[in-house]
Amino acid sequence: MAKTLIRDARIPGQLVIQDYQINGLISFDLLIEDGLVSSIAQTGEQPNTLGWESEIDCRGGMLFPAWVDSHVHLDKSHTWNRAPNPNHTFQDALETLGADKANWTEEEMYARADFTMRCAWAHGVGAIRTHVDTWGAESEISFATLSRLREAWKGKIELQLVSLCGVDQYSEPNGQEFVDIPLKYGATCLGGMPLINPELDKQLDRLLAMASEAGVGIDLHVDESGDPGAACLKAVAEAVLRNQFEYPVTCGHCCSLAVQPWEEAQRTLELVKQAGIRIITLPLCNLYLQDRRLPAESRHTPHWRGITLVQEMLAMGIPVAAASDNVRDAFYAYGDLNPFEVMVQLIRIGHLDTQYSNAAAMVGLAAADIMGLEKHRRIKTGTQADFVLFQARDWSELLSRPSQKPQIIRGGHISNPELPDYRELDSLFS
Ligand SMILES: [Zn+2]
Repeated sequence: MAKTLIRDARIPGQLVIQDYQINGLISFDLLIEDGLVSSIAQTGEQPNTLGWESEIDCRGGMLFPAWVDSHVHLDKSHTWNRAPNPNHTFQDALETLGADKANWTEEEMYARADFTMRCAWAHGVGAIRTHVDTWGAESEISFATLSRLREAWKGKIELQLVSLCGVDQYSEPNGQEFVDIPLKYGATCLGGMPLINPELDKQLDRLLAMASEAGVGIDLHVDESGDPGAACLKAVAEAVLRNQFEYPVTCGHCCSLAVQPWEEAQRTLELVKQAGIRIITLPLCNLYLQDRRLPAESRHTPHWRGITLVQEMLAMGIPVAAASDNVRDAFYAYGDLNPFEVMVQLIRIGHLDTQYSNAAAMVGLAAADIMGLEKHRRIKTGTQADFVLFQARDWSELLSRPSQKPQIIRGGHISNPELPDYRELDSLFS
């Protein structure tokens, strides 16, 4: 049996000990046998009679489990060159990508999405949940493409699919299609984007009834705007409680919460907690899209960072993950599916300078909990030895040099895959 000792790795304690209260780095030695963690002990406590054959000496460098990116859009990724966003606004993104769908074929989407997966792989990602635009029978091609991708990446990156449509669609005469197509391709849960309208409560009740019948949870895009009147998060929480919905509920974005009066936001957060809703914040995309003002030539500097009330949620014990969202498409012109970048930016944007371990958990433990990967993405015996190892020994060294390239460890071995070359995509847009 191949045995490797990973020595003196500093790990955010809660990623090993599974206690959200631990907020420090702890140095561990990990013994890896045949790609799995077979033993873990604090450095200095490991008996040295275990007979390892090779060693990775971290010299106190920080080590994280393979990242978990819990909210992305593989189907839209890398369309920017063909479909750039003229004003960089949410509305223009919707319209631009709506028109670009005419170009989406199985072959070209697979090429783009696989490229994106290889970016994630090079950055040390171990699991991804992608939303998939769902607009009727013709969207079946997206699910077919991405479920094929999921099979191709099995054993490397665990890929989950979630549908994405207007929440009102479930109440339309063909609403069952919006359940059947995703589930036919193994979708993990049903998604959607609720909007404030007189029928919202009924629409949510319908969605929850359909999800209950299918035996799956929901994962929604909620209140992705700076409109204080956008209060869908409250409506979702009330619907979950009203229907006694018993499957997992996740709400992404929740930006408008941050521009509502605190008393109103606090009431919503209490309902969110009571309903057991988990939140995903998307700091890169929110920073890009929120507080945009037209015309673009007005040269307005944004005043708002776009993210939801991450600090307040953490203080109330509401689970929060952070994820990449879009990559090089009309919703976000940049991005590379690099959860390390997401974590670094979130710490800066959200002033999480006293919450480093919680920030790490947002692209690890908390994200894995949302994806139902509790048993797979924490560092403990029996788990896959997939890690991201930095030279930095503490948070100051880590956050001060965000461009540092980590070592990627897969199955206990340093693998360091290359990032794919953008030139590969040229043929798609010629
Ligand atoms: Zn999204």
